[in-house]
Amino acid sequence: MKKLITFIAIVLAISIFFYFDLSQYLNLNWLKENHGHISGYVSTHYLQSVLVFIAIYIVATALSFPGATIITLAGGAFFGSFWGTLYVSIGSTIGATIAMLLARTLLRDWVESKFANRIKSINTGVEREGAFYLFTLRLVPAFPFFLINLGMGLTKISVLKYFVVSQVSMLPGTFVYVNAGSELSKLDSLSGILSPTLLGAFALLGVFPLIAKKIIEFFKARKIYAGFKKPKHFDYDMIAIGGGSAGLVTAYISAAVKAKVALIEKHKMGGDCLNTGCVPSKAILRAAKHVHHSRHLADYGADVGDIKVDFAKVMKRVHDVIKAIEPHDSIERYTSLGVECITGDAEIISPWEVKANGKVLTTRNITIAAGAFPFVPPIPGIENVDYLVSDNLWNITEQPKRFVILGGGPIGLEMAQAFARLGSEVSIIEMGPRVMSKEGSDVAEVIEKKLRAEGVHVLTGHKALRFEGTHSLIVEHEGNEKSIEFDRVLVAVGRRARTQGYGLENLNIKLRPNSTIETDEYLRTNYPNIFACGDVTGPYQLTHMAAHQAWYCAVNGIFGFLKKFKVDYSVVPWATYTDPEVATVGHTEDSAKSEGVAYEVYKYHLDDLDRAIADGETDGFVKVLVRPGSDQVLGATIVGAEASVSILEFVQAMKQGFGLNKILGTIHPYPSLGEANKYLAGIWKNATKPQLILNYLEKFHTWRRG
Ligand SMILES: Cc1cc2nc3c(=O)[nH]c(=O)nc-3n(C[C@H](O)[C@H](O)[C@H](O)COP(=O)(O)OP(=O)(O)OC[C@H]3O[C@@H](n4cnc5c(N)ncnc54)[C@H](O)[C@@H]3O)c2cc1C
Repeated sequence: MKKLITFIAIVLAISIFFYFDLSQYLNLNWLKENHGHISGYVSTHYLQSVLVFIAIYIVATALSFPGATIITLAGGAFFGSFWGTLYVSIGSTIGATIAMLLARTLLRDWVESKFANRIKSINTGVEREGAFYLFTLRLVPAFPFFLINLGMGLTKISVLKYFVVSQVSMLPGTFVYVNAGSELSKLDSLSGILSPTLLGAFALLGVFPLIAKKIIEFFKARKIYAGFKKPKHFDYDMIAIGGGSAGLVTAYISAAVKAKVALIEKHKMGGDCLNTGCVPSKAILRAAKHVHHSRHLADYGADVGDIKVDFAKVMKRVHDVIKAIEPHDSIERYTSLGVECITGDAEIISPWEVKANGKVLTTRNITIAAGAFPFVPPIPGIENVDYLVSDNLWNITEQPKRFVILGGGPIGLEMAQAFARLGSEVSIIEMGPRVMSKEGSDVAEVIEKKLRAEGVHVLTGHKALRFEGTHSLIVEHEGNEKSIEFDRVLVAVGRRARTQGYGLENLNIKLRPNSTIETDEYLRTNYPNIFACGDVTGPYQLTHMAAHQAWYCAVNGIFGFLKKFKVDYSVVPWATYTDPEVATVGHTEDSAKSEGVAYEVYKYHLDDLDRAIADGETDGFVKVLVRPGSDQVLGATIVGAEASVSILEFVQAMKQGFGLNKILGTIHPYPSLGEANKYLAGIWKNATKPQLILNYLEKFHTWRRG
């Protein structure tokens, strides 16, 4: 009953507002025209005026009517800066609290469905920081106030806390606006526009959000750094923890701008990518590709007889490749670039202190670039199996005859193809309905078909249940159990951020639910001078993204007191180096659908491309998502030979803001794989051609021919 009455009252109030078109009174012109009348009334009926003003403010805020800014300016115009601030403050706080309570009792479902995304971020903020979050929202008006009121109604914040925090945090902003209103009302001639007080009031209006932001940063910093003693001077401007892609680039950029930087690596410079990731995986893939092509030389009119693989030699070459690239990431190179390289286990002991080799080093900034490690799921019996992960795979010298790979992601697929081509009998066990879950189903289809044709058992929809003994895996498929025997098993089901054992716990550095380090858009952790990049924070576990993020850590750390840069994830490419390769940038159909992005899709199949036919590499396609009604590329996927190179044209298009028309107008060498991009653009052009005009053109030509 209470709910119903409240509901009817609200509907009535809103109807009155619209029926009498009350919004006409909530604009500057109306106020200016009626300034004299209202001022006269206020001076003769002061108390009534105050009460009516506060009542109007309460109703407008409680019902989230537009026009709070105008009413606030009016407060200044009719009551002056001091009293105006007081009356607005009373009205806005009571109104905001009522709006919050209305949302809590009445509008929960509606608010949640209508503003789901924005409310979600308010809720996460409140969960994380409680009343302080409300304080920051009110002080820096990044969110419209009516949304804060409605959103807060859905949280568990107490009414008293809401009232008090709102009152205090809205006060500075209220004063700035009321003051501007008061100064505006004194304006009686154009020359007054240049009066210092009016200019001052406007300047205050403009810089207030910045001042408020600084105030919040100050309070946040005080809260987070409480209990730590800041050193009087610092040994370094930046310490990077971890000598992988992320740490190396952080150190490189810091040194390039002449900051004093230390890079601490406990194991091998170059990290995962050089030693156990990108480099060895691409080296073994190349060996396997040669073997595969040699076995199929007969297709090209040649025959070299039986191809024998000496696996130990293959692995030796893999290590030779690592050695050849090692100097790029070496201590010698980085020392010559001005980085102080320290070999040892780093531990963060305070926001400004890192301990390594028993020595405490002080620093203005820290970048955590500690990487990730292979996740090993707790499958019963796994403890009895001498399983492999990407870290120790490269130490084997004996080729597994029967090789089981858990996981149908990029690492699992690359290794499946490499080992199968080298001669192992490979089975991929993938729980999901298809491999490459991050790509489209048409992509997975091409890769699965190719792997199956090469003899790989691609077991999608298969769940690893348990290991029995040391060489047998029991899987479940469509309700049936079956046993798969193996000589070696590779676990490649994902990688977990390395966040334990080097001080994050003691400092309470915040982690996300997926256990990566939580960072803001400037890549700062909850300590503004501690940054994180690369696999340890994600969201992309890719070398080029680690390097991309590292630039932000270095620049925001060293120059953040002047200007900070938000990390840009708008155009992110990635590739899987199977044969054919798969390369994607931007949206896939799945991601566009889930984010509600409208798109049109165009596809060009490589079995039509002259060069692909000549090379005998016709598996795959170019697929592009385009914004409807334009030639703007929203995302592209290429499946085919050298896809990781061909995708660059779409990466450039997205990054530099040109579209398919420009690609179509660009000369591509014939016969090249890159021509596929131009043909795709041609398909788009043909599908979007102005048919009506072409019909008239045809008639025109016919008429001219006579
Ligand atoms: C098999 C495989 C293939 C891959 N292929 C590709 C690919 O083709 N393309 C691509 O883009 N990406 C690829 N990746 C992913 C890529 O390797 C990672 O994204 C990248 O290496 C992440 O770099 P990082 O600097 O964040 O972490 P890492 O390279 O893991 O570096 C972290 C470093 O921190 C050190 N460290 C940790 N804790 C401490 C501490 N307390 N004190 C001192 N040092 C510490 C570690 O020893 C390590 O060297 C592949 C990964 C794997 C496993």
